[in-house]
Amino acid sequence: MARVAGFGLEKAFSVECFSHRLNEVNSGSRPGQYALLKMPLYNSKRRSTGTALPKFSSSVNRKSNVSVVSGMWRTISAVAAPIAPTLNDPSYREKLAEEYGFTQIGEPVPPNVTLKNVIDSFPPEVFEIDNVKAWRTVVISVVSYVAGLFMISKAPWYLLPLAWAWTGTAITGFFVIGHDCAHKSFSNNKLIEDIVGTLAFLPLIYPYEPWRFKHDRHHAKTNMLVEDTAWHPVVKEEYDEFPPYLQLALKLAMGPLRCWASIGHWLGWHFQLSNFRPSEQNRVKISLACVFAFMAIGWPLIIYKTGIVGWVKFWLMPWLGYHFWMSTFTMVHHTAPHIPFKDVKNWNSAQAQLGGTVHCDYPRWIEVLCHDISVHIPHHISQKIPSYNLRLANESLRKNWGQYLNEARWNWRLMKTIMTDCHVYDEEKNYVPFDEGQKESKVLGILRRVMPNTP
Ligand SMILES: [Zn+2]
Ligand SMILES: [Zn+2]
Repeated sequence: MARVAGFGLEKAFSVECFSHRLNEVNSGSRPGQYALLKMPLYNSKRRSTGTALPKFSSSVNRKSNVSVVSGMWRTISAVAAPIAPTLNDPSYREKLAEEYGFTQIGEPVPPNVTLKNVIDSFPPEVFEIDNVKAWRTVVISVVSYVAGLFMISKAPWYLLPLAWAWTGTAITGFFVIGHDCAHKSFSNNKLIEDIVGTLAFLPLIYPYEPWRFKHDRHHAKTNMLVEDTAWHPVVKEEYDEFPPYLQLALKLAMGPLRCWASIGHWLGWHFQLSNFRPSEQNRVKISLACVFAFMAIGWPLIIYKTGIVGWVKFWLMPWLGYHFWMSTFTMVHHTAPHIPFKDVKNWNSAQAQLGGTVHCDYPRWIEVLCHDISVHIPHHISQKIPSYNLRLANESLRKNWGQYLNEARWNWRLMKTIMTDCHVYDEEKNYVPFDEGQKESKVLGILRRVMPNTP
């Protein structure tokens, strides 16, 4: 993939030294303009000063080191150092958008903008629960799912992948209905929400309450290091300590298998009682009982009627289709080279939700079957907005806060950027690939070569 360094990388690096002997000044390649960097009088051993960089493509940004062997001269007045372009620069954002596969990269959200400012800018009707619209989503999902099962039962073998793709997408709609229920935006009757949410999650074997507890944390701590429960980049120090088999598993999960990585998340986060507070555990137990009952009764019934092959055709493949969307939506919403994960001290809710969440357009049939879950920024601004009002809310965001939004239309370049670059947390660059600074990983190398780079 072409890298962001395209602009200015080849520029000669100029260093000015005044009234001193400068023995050694090393600098990595950096795009951009230059500024005078004041160097202090220094007379101990060797010192490296890494200057803070804006966030951009990992393979381009080499940390710029100005190394000074000191003790050999008396004074350093000033040294010129480059200033890399920042996300405040519109032409830089445009170039990054092209580079990463975005239609727009938003300018940084100013620190004085609060989440409440943004919520208050929505028209009140976006928060209105409309029972007809809510139940219409249920009808759409049930009808499209049944139609999908019918297609699977009738399709010749060569058309089965299409039938699975449809059915997997249709069943994702059930997840979105449960998602609305979990956020209390499906109905004014909370018991109905609990029942509908639990039932909607059943065919996916997703325990509703455990997921709800963890998902609430995702909203409260979006892109916060350690705390976000949706997904998280690996921390380098931890990764280095993993045994080789685990490193390989992670490379696969965050590389070629990333579109199914939510299976690991589903398995790891939701089934252990000890992952939940004592006050949550009773509800967790009810949900677990429901999904285990579905497996104990539903699966044998499917196998009894259609055999193991039928279980694969009618349940497993659509379930994998659902996880494809679950993983893809999540990674696109919350992973981009210019969007940082931040520690709690530096985290800001408006920046994380408005400027740190991505809107992505998908083909219309997918958006209809998935009840606009891909319209994700307004959902991160307020979880009280029902799915059928997300488009209206998004229009309002575009009108009032449009310059801060990160937007894309689904494309291969976007996927390639995420799957080959966004792996390991890096404080300066946001992300570095697993093989940054090492021999290219076989797994990632294949991915880099075979994935299309079409925007
Ligand atoms: Zn999210
Ligand atoms: Zn949510």
